[in-house]
Amino acid sequence: MRLPVPPVSGMDLEVIAVGTELLRGHTIDTNTAELAATLGEVGISVARCTTVADDQSQIESTLKDALRRTGLVVLTGGLGPTPDDVTREAVAEVFGVELAVDEEHLERLKSWFADRSGRAMPHSNAKQCEVPLGAELLSNQQGSAPGIWMKGEDGIAILLPGVPHEMKHILHAQVIPRLRDRLLTSDGYVAVSKSLTLRTTAVSESLLADLLAGVESDIAPVTLSYLPTVFGVELCLTALRMPPENAVQVLAAAESTLRERIGKWVYGTGDDDLAAVLLDRLRDRGARLAVAESCTGGLVGARITSVPGSSDVFKGSLVAYDDSVKISQLGVAESSIREYGAVSEEVVLEMAEGVSRRLETDAAIAVTGIAGPSGGSPEKPVGTVYLAAVLNGQTMTSRKIFPGEREWVRNRSAQDALALLWELALR
Ligand code: ATP
Ligand code: MG
Repeated sequence: MRLPVPPVSGMDLEVIAVGTELLRGHTIDTNTAELAATLGEVGISVARCTTVADDQSQIESTLKDALRRTGLVVLTGGLGPTPDDVTREAVAEVFGVELAVDEEHLERLKSWFADRSGRAMPHSNAKQCEVPLGAELLSNQQGSAPGIWMKGEDGIAILLPGVPHEMKHILHAQVIPRLRDRLLTSDGYVAVSKSLTLRTTAVSESLLADLLAGVESDIAPVTLSYLPTVFGVELCLTALRMPPENAVQVLAAAESTLRERIGKWVYGTGDDDLAAVLLDRLRDRGARLAVAESCTGGLVGARITSVPGSSDVFKGSLVAYDDSVKISQLGVAESSIREYGAVSEEVVLEMAEGVSRRLETDAAIAVTGIAGPSGGSPEKPVGTVYLAAVLNGQTMTSRKIFPGEREWVRNRSAQDALALLWELALR
């Protein structure tokens, strides 16, 4: 189904994240992600983001280029009281104005310090009261640095603090409402961008791409991106800059088009957790669940118990790491281990059946594998994992080779173990 999309004036802006620590890898730039997601929801696209050091001339040249391209720039970081915070100096220079002390803010800051600590404001904080002439302050209820809205002939620069929760607070309370006002179209609606994520598991990105070949033109104007994670591939559908009802309709149409082709791999949408989805399915069938884990050492049990209300389905988990525990506690045959190895289809199935018998459940999951970095062989390289699922006498097993480091292999194993029982429960 194609819906007519009325032309809507959208808005592009650029983000400049200021901070030497971001370039060194000491701090992960979460502010840009927060900005892009929040602005996207109200129909504003981040056209480019740049990270620069706490260096006045670098900030100046980056800001000039960004203003030339979009005329609208958000900068985060470098508004603090210390000498390395130079964003406001750079902005004043680019807009060709002086910095001047905002007396009202200075008084507010002095009493803020007196109220909170009973002590006088440190002298260095006075720097945070300097504002490019002509700029507007965006009040900050959560810290000492206010945001700054600077408008000049070349466009608008919005300065926000680097501390993530302060940045977020000013963004939501002050910046979004102002930008929304600028976005109101002549029809009186606000254009939005909406996204919807379909979560898949136990299927590769390339197989999904084969199954979805050419789908892009069927779902236009919705766009599709593939985001592989340790939990599987997320398919992110986005409708850009539309009236809200249109965005909802085109996303729903795109979702059903995708589900027609790859529905069997989709276990949920948005933030859905496979463990929670599986527990719901077992609950509907009145089944109880037991788990036997070797290389995951309790990760599957942890995934399950992190779901609130799991106790009515989940009975327990047995971490059978050593072969002797697999034999004595799960009833795995010594001869199976000798003949096929502890990491084998035979053993994983005996583990699942054993724990289901031992804990008296209708459903069970088992995992055994070589998480690495040592212990691999040509026939069973590091990352080889066997999974088994049991449900009311039916069984399924699976052999996987997960490339990657130990934690990645263990987390993938836990996810795919949950996926195997989910698949069996769909039958
Ligand atoms: P304040 O006045 O509160 O000090 P500020 O604008 O000076 O704010 P910075 O000094 O640059 O902010 O950074 C404060 C903290 O926020 C630092 O711990 C820094 O690593 C972190 N930070 C800065 N920029 C980002 C970013 N883009 N993403 C995540 N954290 C950031
Ligand atoms: Mg900084």
